Amino acid sequence: MNFISDMHIPVRRTSHSRIHEVDWGYLELGQYNSDHMLVCDYSEGHWFGPEIMPFGPFSLLPTTLAFHYGQTIFEGMKAFRTVEGRVHIFRPEKHYERWVRSAERLCMPVVSSEVFIEGMRRLVQLDREWAPDSIGSALYIRPFQIATDFRLKLKIADSYRFAIVCSPAGNYFSRPVRVKVEREYARAVKGGTGYAKCGGNYGASLYPTQMAKAEGYDQVLWTDGVSHQYIEESGMMNVFFVIDGVLVTPPLNDTTLDGVTRDSLLILASAAGIPVEERSVSVDELREGLERGRVQEAFGAGTAAVISPIWQIGIDGRDYTIPVNRDGSSIGLELKEALDSIRYGRTEDPYGWNFYV
Ligand SMILES: *Cc1c(COP(=O)(O)O)cnc(C)c1O
Repeated sequence: MNFISDMHIPVRRTSHSRIHEVDWGYLELGQYNSDHMLVCDYSEGHWFGPEIMPFGPFSLLPTTLAFHYGQTIFEGMKAFRTVEGRVHIFRPEKHYERWVRSAERLCMPVVSSEVFIEGMRRLVQLDREWAPDSIGSALYIRPFQIATDFRLKLKIADSYRFAIVCSPAGNYFSRPVRVKVEREYARAVKGGTGYAKCGGNYGASLYPTQMAKAEGYDQVLWTDGVSHQYIEESGMMNVFFVIDGVLVTPPLNDTTLDGVTRDSLLILASAAGIPVEERSVSVDELREGLERGRVQEAFGAGTAAVISPIWQIGIDGRDYTIPVNRDGSSIGLELKEALDSIRYGRTEDPYGWNFYV
């Protein structure tokens, strides 16, 4: 993808970079932020020009609506440094499409794709030294938008702040996780905001996740909010199963987040000749499949870890372990490898996913 724009974005550079403070061997997401951020405000029906400025605090009144009623949305993507040293952002236009859907659901005005993508490109270009050069690591990019009216009346805000910040992220290797199929609490319900990346969804997920952790699980595997009979997704990841050699993932609907990783893995799996099905997976099918050894793999997929293998699934108080292939092979790891090869420039990018800055 090539996006050429001559939009003017004023840049106020920092006088002292903090890059020498970074411990590159140990990067926890959000622990360090790159030197700059992009900010763009909206009021009285229009957007003001975006600006790039030194990373720093916002000054907001306590009555700012975003603090009270949850009118906030965000995105999460990554910039990678290829083996040749070029820096690109992975599929920003796909993230922008989701951003537009999130903004509409939360009654927020949408920044233009020019501000979102070109603004991000210039920010990442300016802070490109912050993109780590080891395989597996990346510069995490967090665009977000908050309602900034200050009055306590519940209403759709008239003013907003859009901002983008970046944070170097280490090689997030996910050790295999243990998940609990959630049969009581819901993350999202039909007609709700599950498909939007809005703050409230995550606040609502904390308590059930904490309960699962108290039982020794790492994460919950959400089921639909009506019958609790169909698998939806997990944490900040979509979920995949390999059942009888077929890669299966639940279909998208208004309770599931349309993951860019999910979409990329489906494309790569089809290209590799792996049979793929987007279809509902019931808890009964999963239980039976686990009992009979038909569920060969399970993993979460998202920007943070690419894939997160699941080694054990708890259903109604019983734990089912997924055996590891004796030769160590797995479709999940094969797909992760294919995706990483494109991202780190070890193979061609036939889909035009890498947006070079
Ligand atoms: C962000 C997110 C995902 C994964 O989306 P990616 O675009 O692949 O990072 C999946 N589920 C939820 C609930 C999320 O917030």
